[in-house]
Amino acid sequence: MSSATGYRQQPPPPPPHIALLPSAGMGHLTPLLRLAAMLASCNCTVTLITAQPPVSAAEATHITAFLAANPTINRLDFQILPYIPSNTATADPFFIQFEAIIRSGHLLTPLLSTTSPPISAIFADIASAAGVFQVADDLGIPIYIVSTTCARFSSLVAYIQHLIAPGSSITMAETSIHVPGLVPFDISTLPPPFFIPNHIFTNGLVSNSRILTKSKGILVNTFHAFEPEAIGAVNGGKVMPNFPPFLPIGPLKPHNLELGDHQPLPWLDKQPPQSVVYVNFGSRTALSRDQITELRNGLEESGKIFLWVLKSTTVDKQDTEELEELLGNSFIQRTKHKGMVVKGWVNQEQILSHPAIGSFVSHCGWNSVMEAAARGIPVLAWPQHGDQKVNAGVVETAGLGIWTKGWGWLGEKTVKGEEIAEKIRMVMSDEKLREKARKIGEEAKTAIEIGGSSNKVLMEIINNLQYKQ
Ligand code: UDP
Ligand code: UDP
Ligand code: UDP
Repeated sequence: MSSATGYRQQPPPPPPHIALLPSAGMGHLTPLLRLAAMLASCNCTVTLITAQPPVSAAEATHITAFLAANPTINRLDFQILPYIPSNTATADPFFIQFEAIIRSGHLLTPLLSTTSPPISAIFADIASAAGVFQVADDLGIPIYIVSTTCARFSSLVAYIQHLIAPGSSITMAETSIHVPGLVPFDISTLPPPFFIPNHIFTNGLVSNSRILTKSKGILVNTFHAFEPEAIGAVNGGKVMPNFPPFLPIGPLKPHNLELGDHQPLPWLDKQPPQSVVYVNFGSRTALSRDQITELRNGLEESGKIFLWVLKSTTVDKQDTEELEELLGNSFIQRTKHKGMVVKGWVNQEQILSHPAIGSFVSHCGWNSVMEAAARGIPVLAWPQHGDQKVNAGVVETAGLGIWTKGWGWLGEKTVKGEEIAEKIRMVMSDEKLREKARKIGEEAKTAIEIGGSSNKVLMEIINNLQYKQ
């Protein structure tokens, strides 16, 4: 088209081509898939790098279903080198995979250098970020980190390079950890591996921490109104001067894959509004047998209707025990009309969207927290490991839920059924909490609408990649 002055206008540059690298586990894959779909819907060319072989069956089925539902997204299989840690005592299969991806990072350069159109940027999951920095450097493209935890824990990850030297740990002598600009972290809320020298989780975190500084920005699945303190502290330069910005783009939009072995929706349809306690500890947390028994008793004693998704192993492929073996047949018979217990994968996004759900007993994996926040569902926080106590603190501070700090970490103690019943009744009957949660849901929706705080941040990233490379 010619302008009035006769000059031919330049056509706009093509939308950017973004390669996304998820690490391991559904808690990491889910936000990266959601982000991939959001970028594709903004006309970006998107390539999903899939580390092969994945750890869990859920990851494999979700990647296949996601790509079938999003045919414009390219798949790039990345065969990773096997890695066997020297200390197998702390060998969580998901942490091993984080490290294996980091160690295989160099294999990505030849794979990514031949794509057409050329890659404009790599968006790398925080847990394997250290693996792709060199690749981005070799290809001369920027790297953005995708944080799969809250802004508060992400600030700690950013600062941890100043707290823990490679191969060391935090000493138990301290009572709290200070990150400039943030309310101190009580040490009882920090992941237990932080206190074990040379732990694979902590080592990974320290090496990823160093990479954050070299990125263009850190995309966080949160929104400004939910975590103003941590976002403000990092972006105001208080945590570290000249640190890349936190880019709050959440809650990431659901991708609603029709997956799940069990669909409790017809059962939920028959329950009154806001009457059901939904219990799910995420994709990879298995409670002890004793704790399963106490939770079973607590749910029954609460007198509330419940939907419980039960896992008994960390990796889903090994989860073969039947419900009757875990809970006893008489409980299942007694609670036939009061509750539903399922083993296997459910579609949590759909469940949380159902009007029958009244509260969510959650381990506070960050995706679960954002999914509850997006829908204004009150949370009974029961963190189990990793970043989850820090996440639970954010839930409490924001007013989305309640957290009983004395319940401890997974395996630390067995919380009694009576206490669980009491807290369930409390969260179900607290009208102030319900109202506050509802408001948070409204704020979340506003953040992701066109022109909302999170939407603007994402649009600006895409715009920068399109016009300012
Ligand atoms: N999820 C689900 N169905 C299940 C278990 C988990 O849809 O039966 C989803 C959940 O909605 C969330 C993700 O898997 O998006 C789990 O991530 P989160 O960070 O909550 O916890 P993690 O599994 O990493 O501990
Ligand atoms: N993390 C990391 N490197 C690691 C392990 C963990 O950067 O090697 C970070 C990452 O931010 C992750 C958080 O620590 O979201 C908590 O990790 P965990 O594996 O416990 O989370 P989950 O997989 O259960 O969501
Ligand atoms: N939402 C979101 N992230 C989530 C869950 C929901 O951004 O993890 C948004 C979603 O895009 C929608 C609103 O919150 O705008 C309500 O979500 P829901 O899945 O309940 O949508 P509905 O089925 O009510 O249309």
